[in-house]
Amino acid sequence: MRNTLISNTSMNFKTDFLKTSALRIHLVCLSILLPFTIKHIIEGRYDSAISNCLIFAIGSFNIWSILKRNHYYSRLTLAVLLPVVIISLLLSINNQGIIGIFSCYAAMLSFYFVLPERQAWFANFALLCTSLPLAWVTLGANEAISLAATLVLVSLFSAIFVNVIYAQQKKLHLQAATDTLTGLFNRTILYQTLEQAIEQKKRKSIDMTIITFDIDHFKVINDTYGHDVGDDVLQQLGTLLNHRIRRSDRVFRLGGEEFMVLLFGADLEEGQNVAEDLRSMIESTPFLAQHPVTVSLGVATLLENETLTEWVKRSDEHLYIAKSSGRNKVIYQNTMNNLDASAPMGAIVVN
Ligand code: GH3
Ligand code: MG
Ligand code: MG
Repeated sequence: MRNTLISNTSMNFKTDFLKTSALRIHLVCLSILLPFTIKHIIEGRYDSAISNCLIFAIGSFNIWSILKRNHYYSRLTLAVLLPVVIISLLLSINNQGIIGIFSCYAAMLSFYFVLPERQAWFANFALLCTSLPLAWVTLGANEAISLAATLVLVSLFSAIFVNVIYAQQKKLHLQAATDTLTGLFNRTILYQTLEQAIEQKKRKSIDMTIITFDIDHFKVINDTYGHDVGDDVLQQLGTLLNHRIRRSDRVFRLGGEEFMVLLFGADLEEGQNVAEDLRSMIESTPFLAQHPVTVSLGVATLLENETLTEWVKRSDEHLYIAKSSGRNKVIYQNTMNNLDASAPMGAIVVN
C-alpha cells in the first residue's frame, strides 16, 4: 500500500513552488503575448494570431484555477498548452525567421517553472526536435547548429537553477519541520499530516492509529543527572524511534518528553502491538547505565467521522490513564472504571 501521507508532505513544497512560479510566468507571458497577438492580426498572420489566442485561453484558465481554486493543472499545461506553444513557436520561426527563434529561449526557460522537472525535460526535448529541423531549412545549417548548442545550454542551465531552488526549499522545509535535538518531526506538520490521515480514512477506508507517549518521571532524570544527560536520553530515543519505525509511519516530538507515532494503515490490534513493542524496546534499551527509562503510551485508532481534536484527545486520555495507573503501560481503551489495578507493568489493559 502506497503511503500518500509521506509523499504528499514531501511533495508539498514542490507543488507550492510550481503553483507560485506558474502563476507569475503565466501572468507575464500573457501580458507580453497580447501586443504581439494584436500585431499578428494587423499584419495578417492569422495562423500565429489564432495559436496565440489559444495560449491566451488556456493560460487564462490556469491563472483562474490557481487564484480561485488554489489548484494548478500541470497536466493540462503539458497535454494542451505545450503543443499549442510549440506550434506557435514553429509558426513564428517559419513566418519571421530569426525573430521566432528568440522566443524559443524564453519558452525553454519557462518550461522548468510551469511543469514538473521530468515533464519540463520532455517539453524542451520536444521543442528542440521540432524547431531545429525547421531552423535548418529556413535559416541554414550554421544557424541551426548554433541554435541547437545555445538552446541545449539554456535548457541545462535552467534545469540546474530549478534543482538548486528545489534543494534549498527541501532543506528549509526539513529544518522547519524537524526538531533539532531528536531529528524527529515537530508540531509544524503534525496537524497537516493528521488531517491528511483523516482524509485518507474517509476516502479509502485506510485505518489510521496514533500512539501518544511520554517518558516516565523524566524530571527525576534531569534532576539527578543534569539537563545535558536528559537531552542525551531524548536524542538517543529519537535515533531509536527513527530506526525502528516503519517507513510508512511518522514520529513527532510533541514537545518536552512527549511523542506521537502515526501508524499508516494500522488497525487497533496492530496499534496495540506496535505500542507494546515500543514500550518493551524502550524499557530494555540502556539509555542510562543506572537508571531505567520507561514510557507510558495511549493508543487511539481513528473512528468513523471522528474529528482531529477528538482523535488526539482520546489518545491523550489513554496516555493519562497509563500514567495514573502505574506508568510503563499501554492503554487503548478508556477503561478507567474497569481498570485492572493488579495488571503487571507493561500489560495492555483490556476492558
Ligand atoms: P511523568 O511520568 O508524569 O510524565 O513525569 P515527568 O517527570 O516525566 O513529567 P514532568 O512534566 O513533571 O516533567 C517533565 C520534565 O521534562 C520537565 C522538563 O524540564 C523536562 N524537559 C522538557 N523538555 C526538555 C528538554 O528538551 N530537555 C531536557 N533535558 N528536559 C526537558
Ligand atoms: Mg513525562
Ligand atoms: Mg510530559
